[in-house]
Amino acid sequence: YYEEIKQAERLKTAGQLAAAVAHEIRNPLTVVKGFLQLYEQEATIDGQKTTNYSLLIDELDAAEQVISQFLTLSKPSKNPTVELVEVKESLQSVSELLYSYGLQRGIKIDLIAENNHLIKINRIEFKQLLVNLIKNAIEASKDDDIILVSLNRVRDSVEIKIIDQGQGMSKEEIESLGTPFYSLKSKGTGLGMMICFNIVAKYKGEINFQSFKGQGTSVTISFPVVKS
Ligand code: ADP
Ligand code: MG
Repeated sequence: YYEEIKQAERLKTAGQLAAAVAHEIRNPLTVVKGFLQLYEQEATIDGQKTTNYSLLIDELDAAEQVISQFLTLSKPSKNPTVELVEVKESLQSVSELLYSYGLQRGIKIDLIAENNHLIKINRIEFKQLLVNLIKNAIEASKDDDIILVSLNRVRDSVEIKIIDQGQGMSKEEIESLGTPFYSLKSKGTGLGMMICFNIVAKYKGEINFQSFKGQGTSVTISFPVVKS
C-alpha cells in the first residue's frame, strides 16, 4: 500500500513538471511556426516555391503533438471531478469523433452496445482513454478494416473491448506498452499508452492486451460497475 502511494506521488510530480516544461517549450515553438508559415508564403517567385518550409513546419507540428499529449497527461489530474458516466454514450461520442479519422482509409468503427452502464470516472479522462485506444486501433488497421468496439457487463465490471484486425504486436511489443516515448510509428509520440495506463490505474480499472503479429489486437478495459 505504501508503495502505491509513493507511485501515485511520483506520477503527480512528473505530471506537474511535464506541464511546466511543456508550457515553456510551446510558446517559442508557436512563434517559430508562425514565422515559418509567413516565410513560406513569401518564398514563392512567380508561383514557384523557392524554399521548402513545409518540412520544418511538419517537424514543429510533431513536437507540438508531443507537448499536447504531455499537457493532457498532467492537466486533468489537477482537478478531476469524478462523476457517474454513462459508458455507452461516451463510446458513441468517441466513435463519432474518430469516424472521419478512420474514413480517410475506409476504416469503419462498429459499436456494439446493448445496455448502458454507469461507472465512476472523470468524463474527460475516460474519453481520453477511449480516444487513445481507438486511435491506435485505426492506425494499426489496414485500409477498409472494421474495428469492433463492444460494451458488456461481466459480473461486477463494465467491460469494453476494442478489437482490430491490424498489424498486431509481439509479446515483447506488448510488454513495452506504456513506456514513455515507446513508439513504432514514424510520427508517433509514444505517450498514448502511458496516458491510458495512468487513467486505468487511477480509477481501479484493468487493461489487458491480446495480440498476434499480423492478425490484430484485442484490448480489454474494465471498471467497477455502479449499480443503478
Ligand atoms: P503512438 O501511438 O504515438 O505510437 P502509443 O503509446 O499510443 O504511442 O502506442 C505505442 C505503440 O504501441 C505504437 O507505436 C504501436 O507500435 C503499439 N500499439 C498500440 N496499440 C496498438 C494496436 N492496436 N495494434 C498494434 N500496435 C499497437
Ligand atoms: Mg497512440
